[in-house]
Amino acid sequence: TLTSVERDTTIFDLINKEQHRQESGIELIASENFTSPQVMEAAGSVLTNKYAEGLPGKRYYGGCEVVDEIEQIAIDRLKSLFGATWANVQPHSGAQANTAVFLACLNPGDKIMGFNLAHGGHLSHGSPVNISGKYFQPVFYGVEAETGLIDWDKVEKQALQEKPKLLICGASAYSRDWDYARLRNIADQVGALLLADISHPAGLIAKGLLNDPFDHCHIVTTTTHKTLRGPRGGVIMMRNDFENPFGITTAKGKVRMMSSLLDSGVFPGTQGGPLEHIIAAKAIAFGEALTDGYANYATQVAKNAQAMATAFIDKGYKIISGGTDNHLMLIDLRTKNGVDYGLTGRLAENTLIKADITINKNMVPFDDKSPMVTSGIRVGTAAITTRGMVESDMARIVDLIDMVLMNHDQEAKIASAKTEINTWMKQFPLYV
Ligand code: PLP
Repeated sequence: TLTSVERDTTIFDLINKEQHRQESGIELIASENFTSPQVMEAAGSVLTNKYAEGLPGKRYYGGCEVVDEIEQIAIDRLKSLFGATWANVQPHSGAQANTAVFLACLNPGDKIMGFNLAHGGHLSHGSPVNISGKYFQPVFYGVEAETGLIDWDKVEKQALQEKPKLLICGASAYSRDWDYARLRNIADQVGALLLADISHPAGLIAKGLLNDPFDHCHIVTTTTHKTLRGPRGGVIMMRNDFENPFGITTAKGKVRMMSSLLDSGVFPGTQGGPLEHIIAAKAIAFGEALTDGYANYATQVAKNAQAMATAFIDKGYKIISGGTDNHLMLIDLRTKNGVDYGLTGRLAENTLIKADITINKNMVPFDDKSPMVTSGIRVGTAAITTRGMVESDMARIVDLIDMVLMNHDQEAKIASAKTEINTWMKQFPLYV
């Protein structure tokens, strides 16, 4: 029987080791978070056994009555979280969600215009190493060297020249808000569809802390595991469904709605069976995000990011664009108070991890170093806020980061920072 299968201690020992790593350090990777125990319980449930190609009520497999209910709850909760009228909760990841949108909206070779990866954009918005850049023709807009901000006038000028079929907004490392109304105006001038990928700030948008993309963007995608604090995955949403502008009709000659093309873009377009265990976990996370407790959390994430940015600036670090509106910031390590300390993103990442501070190296706009070295680091407050940290803790984190970076060749000092951090983090229990 299944219960007599020998336990795989090799893997479970490693899982325990990873749990210890997560609990004992300071997690500042902007795209990470800690899910609730009930989210993990659903992700590890019997639902992983079920095939359910299709959509609730319209499946290609029998026995889907229960997963139909679960998936419908996930859809309904997500719609109410963002004020959307249509959602697909099946994409296995954020990149999958974007690929499904491309398949629904574009033909191979069509032009897409997205935010430059080297300025903080995402691979799935047209990078030549991603399907989005191989099958479509990408052009990119970026930030200004002096301000670190996107100049919407320049985006407009470029879009009028390039005439993309799809204009994409959203980023992995942009700390400022987006002017969705302006972007829609630009998209309308060139007949482009406008896609917002809100993977990073989704939780802050859901709680009204940032501009709302839904009234302006035709389609919105997001991951579910960053600020939203759900299981790893993606979703696609629309506030207003509309007839597809490409003249694609049904067998009966009716123009297909965009929602129908997007559903097909996910399955059978880019995926097979949905992960119903993950969809159940998404449903739980969306339920959690609908609570007042989560609204307080999202507000605290933003407050912590502000406090952290201020603490870095007070120490003389250069933050791209001079601050943050959301949960993250990009720090240019080439100088501190105008002095070159020989720091790179790679050196910072490799040194901070010795003290159990996890960050990621990141290119800064107009970086002169390679993506494997980089001049910057990206830090975010989503995960540490889940642990219960508040503004006053941010200055101490920045003190520790600064101490480790300024003493990157002093192993004893780094070891003492690690001891301090491991002791400190016991005050913020995670999975008791
Ligand atoms: N879109 C943006 C803006 C992201 O930052 C990310 C992940 O970092 C993704 C998409 C991809 O998500 P996933 O890793 O789930 O494919």
